[in-house]
Amino acid sequence: MSLSDRVVSTTCPFCGVGCNLQLHIQDDFIYRVTSPFDSVVNHGNLCVKGRFGYDFIYNQNRITTPLIRRTPQKPGKRTQAFDLSEWREATWDEALDLIADRLTEIYQRDGSRAMAAYCCAKATNEDNYLMEKLFRALFRTNHIDHCTRLCHAASVVALQMAVGSSAMSNTAAEVIQNDVFIVTGSNTAENHPIIALQMKAAVQKHGAKLIVVDPRRVEMANYATLWLPEKPGSDIAVFSAMAHVILKEKLYNQEFIDQRTENFAEFAASMEKFTPEHAEIVSGVDRNLIIEAARLYGNARNGAIYWSLGIPEHSHGTANALALINLALLTGNIGRPGTGLNPLRGQNNVQGASDMGAMPWHYPGYQRVDDEQNARKFEQAWHIEPGGLNRTLGLTTTEIVSSIGPGGVRSLYIMGENPMMSEPNLNHTRHKLEQLEFLVAQDIFINESGAFADVFLPAASWAEKDGTFTNTDRRVQRVRQAIQARGQSRADWQIVCDLARRLETRLKRSTSAGWNYQNPAEVMREIGSVVPEYRGITYERIENLGIQTPTWDENHPGTPYLFAETFPRGRGKFHPLEDAGMAEMPDEDYPLILTTGRVLEHWHGGTLTRHSWLDDLFPEALMEIHPADAAHLKINAGNAVRVTSRRGSIVLRAIVTQKTTPGVVFIPFHFAEAAANLLTQDILDPQAKIPEYKACAVRVTPA
Ligand code: SF4
Repeated sequence: MSLSDRVVSTTCPFCGVGCNLQLHIQDDFIYRVTSPFDSVVNHGNLCVKGRFGYDFIYNQNRITTPLIRRTPQKPGKRTQAFDLSEWREATWDEALDLIADRLTEIYQRDGSRAMAAYCCAKATNEDNYLMEKLFRALFRTNHIDHCTRLCHAASVVALQMAVGSSAMSNTAAEVIQNDVFIVTGSNTAENHPIIALQMKAAVQKHGAKLIVVDPRRVEMANYATLWLPEKPGSDIAVFSAMAHVILKEKLYNQEFIDQRTENFAEFAASMEKFTPEHAEIVSGVDRNLIIEAARLYGNARNGAIYWSLGIPEHSHGTANALALINLALLTGNIGRPGTGLNPLRGQNNVQGASDMGAMPWHYPGYQRVDDEQNARKFEQAWHIEPGGLNRTLGLTTTEIVSSIGPGGVRSLYIMGENPMMSEPNLNHTRHKLEQLEFLVAQDIFINESGAFADVFLPAASWAEKDGTFTNTDRRVQRVRQAIQARGQSRADWQIVCDLARRLETRLKRSTSAGWNYQNPAEVMREIGSVVPEYRGITYERIENLGIQTPTWDENHPGTPYLFAETFPRGRGKFHPLEDAGMAEMPDEDYPLILTTGRVLEHWHGGTLTRHSWLDDLFPEALMEIHPADAAHLKINAGNAVRVTSRRGSIVLRAIVTQKTTPGVVFIPFHFAEAAANLLTQDILDPQAKIPEYKACAVRVTPA
């Protein structure tokens, strides 16, 4: 089939906004990307990544043939191989047979506890559904996770605890209906640029009041009525002090509290101690700013809260998110258009991969694996004998890494993720990956993790396959094949099916459909049969605009905002809170606080954007340091500096800027040559198991 000379509509492969793209193609070559003005998500606007970042498809370093390591790798002696001479080309049959043989051997010897897989927030819903199904149905393991664990896991857990649903409650575009909104822990202008445009319009055209709470003076602070420059790790104190003021000044919504919530009295009692004076001491934010912010939000007609990774990526990330949820329940700013609790999801399909059960505690649709009824349901749907599925909660990404070794995880299958960039404390991650008995990487490039693999499988890019992504406000949209897959690369879902058929034979297990899906649309029909919120999704229905989940049947129009009548758990639950700070405080040896994040031009571990011309726009890691700290350390702009934590050390150049606050340095985590996660710590939030990326103690010295 010729796919030339045409325009193909699809969805952006980068951030969770999910902008609609038109790929312009001539002779099977994408030469331009635009967006239609009537696009429902982005109204024709695109950021630099969506507009120009697609050229990674044609990068000469892309791998388009299956590869096998020439030297067999041994646990403890495993090495990284970026040089192609250390690999040999293989046929698909040879590579998949080798994988099936080795995984079967390890499983039959050590059982399900030895098997683990990383699914992928960059892959489609269909890719993720089939990958988690393969590992659950054939290897009977729940050691399945993806990078949601490293971004919004604590938001998910907190929202499940308080309201029973973990996605954004409202549609991003509803921001123009807010009269007051809080943006916290989110550099929205760089990480969700199109939503930031809507936020700016809300302020400038519609007169909304914006409150930014962030240790950095991020771009959105320029549009804010109030900027609260809190110290990293002090969110509970700041937001609970706002609740304290709202309670004291009786700005709460008694009717909403009476009719829709529970546990108010216990919560209110726990807020007594969170005075603005206490918050000022803990956070460094002037108490009067906190009082003013509380009054603004407490008096809002339509108040909304938007947050990103600055809230969940803490050792107390779940409590941070609960502090925000308490505010919304207290004021009744939830369950109506233009209000809500809105965790902005980072990657293009992190919402969808989570919906698809690419997580260790849930089957698709957030159905707990340790619930007997759920297990029976999936055994029936997947044609598995009663009692066949594993009822034990699996390990999370960081736990999988820590468990590698005798008696723990022995083999790891990585579809599209890069733990050697995204995990905290990378020296520990490196040591653990070296101990693996067998490692498969399925990706577009050999990245820092794939370089440890025994077998590399070349995956098709998003422009070379069909499927769906679910964006940050729950809209399921089409991904369409626009060009032929480069070389021998194949769509992830096809690779998974090819491997599953081999495993069924070797393990003498048969599951549903014989893994002979004709296309992703067929996979989506199966997803709709097991995930109630996706029952109304068919490729025909989402052809043009997509549909926001939940959509309960093929006549249901989708759901722009949640919780209109009730919460999935019944009443919204207030949670009393205790103060909690950084797990690792600055001291004499490590006097500064490091916080990490992203920049506009790059995306996640850099696997795609660093293979794009976007890398020319922002080619190196730069550390932001406040002028006062720079003067004290005798550092000038552009100087090379060494940043050291108790776990590692990196060298990079400094930017001297008031964007960061005194005592805090900022480093983006996209750059392998100065990997910020060599410095971060792997201490986890006890409930969500998310690491504390956003705060650790470091020392900065001239290099
Ligand atoms: Fe793509 Fe996000 Fe940029 Fe939109 S805002 S073009 S989805 S990266």
